[in-house]
Amino acid sequence: MSSATLERLSTLSLSVQQLSRLPRLLCTLPSPPSLRGTVRASDVPSLFREPYILTGYRPVGQDWRCYLLSLFQRHNESLNVWTHLLAVPLVLLRCWVFAGTWGLALDAASLPLCLYVASALTYLCFSAAAHLLQSHSELAHYSLFFLDYVGVSVYQYGCALAHYFYSSEPAWRESGVARLFLPGAAFLGWLSCAACCFAKFRYRRPYPPRRKVCQLIPTTLAYLLDISPVAHRLATGSWAEPAMTLHALQVAFFLLAALFFSCPVPERFFPGRCDIVGHGHQIFHLFLSLCTLCQLEALFEDFLACRRDVVQVHGEEHLLLACASFPLLVLCSALTAGAMRKSVQRRLGVRLD
Ligand SMILES: [Zn+2]
Repeated sequence: MSSATLERLSTLSLSVQQLSRLPRLLCTLPSPPSLRGTVRASDVPSLFREPYILTGYRPVGQDWRCYLLSLFQRHNESLNVWTHLLAVPLVLLRCWVFAGTWGLALDAASLPLCLYVASALTYLCFSAAAHLLQSHSELAHYSLFFLDYVGVSVYQYGCALAHYFYSSEPAWRESGVARLFLPGAAFLGWLSCAACCFAKFRYRRPYPPRRKVCQLIPTTLAYLLDISPVAHRLATGSWAEPAMTLHALQVAFFLLAALFFSCPVPERFFPGRCDIVGHGHQIFHLFLSLCTLCQLEALFEDFLACRRDVVQVHGEEHLLLACASFPLLVLCSALTAGAMRKSVQRRLGVRLD
């Protein structure tokens, strides 16, 4: 027998010895945590209670892995997680098919589209993570929802970029709104994040209506500005274009989403009956995902129609500057959320002393 064969045999016997030790090794690993059943609203601190939702709460203070595993558990956040989580593979799949069919190079013309897709994936993932993991502790609850608001601000600017460069008409671009559009969208995107974080930090449950007003004013202003190129086109453009119906659908789905975000219906009329399926926040998530999917299709149509001229029409420098503002907005929103998290930490620390 050659020395090479002997060497291989000894390596093999070593591997078999190591494999035989594997069951003992596995026994020493910590076993996965067991999931506890859901509890009533009165069993969780008031921060975690939602109006008119009486049951289906996950107990607070479990291991992080319990909340990860609760993805497959029936609780009152399950559909809040899945309505945004399922949209992620749908967006990715649609982009993959689009890039394969039409060819998508990472050049100046496609940069706003790529940033829009990145912004949509960011808000969907941050929102799903917030709803899945927020019950861990009070600090986790605040921190994860602050992250959710960073996702909202990033998505707002992603939409603004794509609407401005692909969906606007020449007549709208000559208006005064168009001149202020991109800096205004970036500022209102940041303001939405800051106001939502502040309202979450400032007001305690049961939340006063002022909290919703504090959240809704900047987000509504941001939406009105971000959608203005599309609204102008819907009012003046030709409905023969295939993107028009998709844009009309994205606006309709967004308005429905906003309605269910603002009012706790239908649970207000059936307290305790919509705990697991059918409460307003789930319907809000569902309509927002449908809005994003229609918006993506509309933007694909608009991008195909203008991809050859977009750099020439807007100027490469202007386009790149607008896109460079995207990471700046991410940074400003993340810093704001981080500062608010520090304030929460201080407040919780003071309360614990
Ligand atoms: Zn949500």
